[in-house]
Amino acid sequence: MNFDTPITIALSKGRIFEQTLPLLAHAGIVPSDDPETSRKLILGTNHPQVKLVIIRATDVPTYVQWGAADLGVAGKDVLLEHGGEGLYEPLDLGIARCRLMVAGVPAASLEGNRLRIATKYVESARRYFAARGQQVEIIKLYGSMELAPLVGLSDLIVDLVESGNTLKANGLVPLQHIADISSRLVVNKAAWKMKHATVMQLLDALREATARAA
Ligand code: ATP
Ligand code: MG
Repeated sequence: MNFDTPITIALSKGRIFEQTLPLLAHAGIVPSDDPETSRKLILGTNHPQVKLVIIRATDVPTYVQWGAADLGVAGKDVLLEHGGEGLYEPLDLGIARCRLMVAGVPAASLEGNRLRIATKYVESARRYFAARGQQVEIIKLYGSMELAPLVGLSDLIVDLVESGNTLKANGLVPLQHIADISSRLVVNKAAWKMKHATVMQLLDALREATARAA
C-alpha cells in the first residue's frame, strides 16, 4: 500500500491497540514503537506518512471530530456517549466485544422510580431508562462501578460485561442487556472528503482484514 497523503490514526492503549495491530498489519502498517513500553504519544510507522496518536479511549472521538486525527478506533460504548458529531462510522472492526448491561445484586429490582444508577455511561443509561418510561437518578463514576451497589451508593449499575467474572467476584449479576459493543473505525468528515483516496484504501484493507478475522 502506498500512502501519498499524511494520515493520523488515533488509538488507545491496551485491548484496542493490541487487537487493532493485526488489522493494521493487514493494511501494511506497522508501528515503530510499542505504546505499552514507550512513553511516546505519537508513534511513527513503517510508512513515513502514517502516524499513530495514543490517547485515552474516551478521547478518541474528540480527536477525530476536531481533525487532530483523521481516523480512529473507538468502542461503541464510547461513541454512544460522545454522540458521533463530526464523525463517520464506516466499519465495525469486530474487536473488543462485550455487552453494555444493567447489573446489580441478585435480588435487585429494575422496577420503580427514582432508582439510583451508578455508571460511566451516563447518556446510554439515561436513554435506556427513559425508553422504559422510568425516572432514574444517574450517578456518574469513572471506574470500579461494581462497588457502588455494595456500599449503598446506587441500586444498580450500567457497565460493560465480557465474561461476567468481575460482577461475580463482587456478588453482582447481569440483569438486563442494553447493547452489544465492539470497536468501530471512525473517520473525520473533512478527511473523508479531502483525503478520500487514502481513506478508502485504508478502509478497504481494514474491511478485508476484519472479514478474514470473522
Ligand atoms: P481508561 O482505562 O483509560 O479509563 P477504558 O477503561 O475505557 O479507559 P479499556 O478498558 O481499554 O479502556 O477499554 C477500551 C474499550 O474496550 C472500551 O471503550 C470498550 O469498548 C472495550 N472494552 C472495555 N472493557 C471490555 C471488556 N471487558 N471486554 C471487551 N471489551 C471491553
Ligand atoms: Mg479500563
